[in-house]
Amino acid sequence: MLVKKKLIKLFAWIDNSNISEDDNVGNAIDWLRVIPFILMHITCLLVFVVGWSPVALWVALFSYLLRMFAITAFYHRYFSHKSFKTSRTGQFIFALLGATATQRGPIWWASHHRRHHLYSDQDKDIHSPKHGFLWSHMGWFLCLKNFTTRENCVRDLLKYPELRWLDRFDIIVPIAYAFFMLGLGKWLELYFPEFGTNASQMLIWGYFVSSIVLIHCTLSVNSLAHIFGSKRYQTNDDSRNNGLLALLTLGEGWHNNHHHYPLSARQGFFWWEIDISYYLLKLMSWCGLIWDLQPIPVNRLHSKLVQKELKQ
Ligand SMILES: [Zn+2]
Ligand SMILES: [Zn+2]
Repeated sequence: MLVKKKLIKLFAWIDNSNISEDDNVGNAIDWLRVIPFILMHITCLLVFVVGWSPVALWVALFSYLLRMFAITAFYHRYFSHKSFKTSRTGQFIFALLGATATQRGPIWWASHHRRHHLYSDQDKDIHSPKHGFLWSHMGWFLCLKNFTTRENCVRDLLKYPELRWLDRFDIIVPIAYAFFMLGLGKWLELYFPEFGTNASQMLIWGYFVSSIVLIHCTLSVNSLAHIFGSKRYQTNDDSRNNGLLALLTLGEGWHNNHHHYPLSARQGFFWWEIDISYYLLKLMSWCGLIWDLQPIPVNRLHSKLVQKELKQ
């Protein structure tokens, strides 16, 4: 019986439909299931074996930026908060792009994020730093109970079979992306030998290093952006605005703004709050790829200000 359970868990790396919410209870780390996550970190050390080249570093950076945009703009602002609209085809392409970031499927991601907004920094918050920094950064998704999707939070997304498929086989897109990097490296090696790169270098830098940095920067919004930074709005949580995180995460660092009004497509509420994802979303709306970007209403922009509260 125990062997069968372990086999099911191994199989869940590829197809997670065998694991139900009832199977996953408790805060214990699910070591068997998180082996791929650990291996991804160790694989990054292969940079000392494959070496580096300027083109490998540029591809790693571009790979990071493209997928960070997919996470902040699509997984977060679209799937989790519905802060703009798109076609069903657009929705699927956004989900595919987001899935390359190796942060599981869009429905799983949105379900846990919506729950975070429901209970921000309260007992039921799944990743509040109040429960420990490491827990808020990584523990919450490595444990048993948060492996499954909280279906009651995402009924609107569950009706799309193509999104459910991406969630069920959430390792397929990252593997395809890693193979794409491998192919790109081989192609550059064959046709542009002057770049001094190869397949293994592109795989390690373009996929592994880029993905690990991307994952930790995304996770920092849950951990660091609830600890370090300034607070403009009186929200019922410890969310903070952090300019450095906003640069690294293409706009997500304006987290206190976001908790104040999560529906807004824009998280940098003022012109000096750089929000690259929003600028790109605006560009996409001008091209007709997305529409109905939710603005921040003027009355909300100036409501519940911390300074005002303190003066009273
Ligand atoms: Zn938050
Ligand atoms: Zn959010």
